[in-house]
Amino acid sequence: MSDAPPPGLAERLAGVRDAIADASRDAGRDPDGITLIVVTKFHPASLVRELAALGQRDFGENRHQEARPKAASLTDIDATWHFVGQLQSNKARQVREYADFIHTLDRESLVAALGGAGRPVDVFLQLNLTDDLARGGARESDLPVLAERVLATPGLSLRGLMAVAPLGEEPRRAFERVRLASELVRRTAPEATALSMGMSGDFADAIREGATHLRIGTAITGNRPTPG
Ligand SMILES: *Cc1c(COP(=O)(O)O)cnc(C)c1O
Repeated sequence: MSDAPPPGLAERLAGVRDAIADASRDAGRDPDGITLIVVTKFHPASLVRELAALGQRDFGENRHQEARPKAASLTDIDATWHFVGQLQSNKARQVREYADFIHTLDRESLVAALGGAGRPVDVFLQLNLTDDLARGGARESDLPVLAERVLATPGLSLRGLMAVAPLGEEPRRAFERVRLASELVRRTAPEATALSMGMSGDFADAIREGATHLRIGTAITGNRPTPG
């Protein structure tokens, strides 16, 4: 695999940033309130470096065994790491060592595994918008108790909710459900106002429903290399 940056990377990054600005303006929102996370999974560390040179700072990864060495090889750049994949309880403390944000807290056993002494970590509660719990994410009805547990646990800072729009549902509808669930959670955790939602194909809809953290991969990186 070549380490050369994919052609057009700067143009695609600029294009997505412009599209975020346009969608924000249409929604009457300030684009400065929206964090663009470029999801670099399956791509080499050199791509992260290239994006950092273009001014990108927030990066997302979804597999611990890939993210850990990648982050370790990039400690010289100014990067903020977001873990967006399913999290195993027995790996949680290791992920916390390099991740600044964890977007996929979805059960009480993870709260205990992540909490405690050490560098504080910002967390999102993941809401599952499907009926298939194997996809990760908590049911909406489980969110208030989960939020309470996080608030009571030192070392964790609850930022808000994360979700992936399911196939077969209009994304805008799905994101509206996340926004409504967020209102429920904020009765318990008034400061948990962030919404991590919106990917390459649906980020404009996510912005219309209040997304604060977009997780965008292929629209910027191009197609992902096959996992190796
Ligand atoms: C891969 C991934 C993304 C980015 O998806 P694209 O369609 O490439 O933009 C966003 N969120 C999660 C949780 C992912 O795993």
